[in-house]
Amino acid sequence: MNCGAKTRAGTPCKKPSVVGKTRCRLHGGLSPSGEAHYNYKHGRYTKESKLLAIEVNARLKLLATVAIEFGMIENSD
Ligand SMILES: [Zn+2]
Repeated sequence: MNCGAKTRAGTPCKKPSVVGKTRCRLHGGLSPSGEAHYNYKHGRYTKESKLLAIEVNARLKLLATVAIEFGMIENSD
C-alpha cells in the first residue's frame, strides 16, 4: 500500500508504506504509535477512548429516555 501523505508539492506521496503501517518511513511510518509513542501520557484522548465516550453517551441517553418515560426524572430538553 502507498503512503498517500500530502507532499510539499500538494500531491499524494507515492512511496510504499512501512510494513504494518499506513505511512512511508519519511512520513511517520517509523514513529511508534499508541502507548509506545514517546508522547503518550494517560490515554485520555486516544481514538479508542473517544469512541468509548460516544458509546457511553448513547447508552446514557437511552437510559435517560427510559427514566423520563417512567417518571423517575424530568425532561430537561
Ligand atoms: Zn510518504
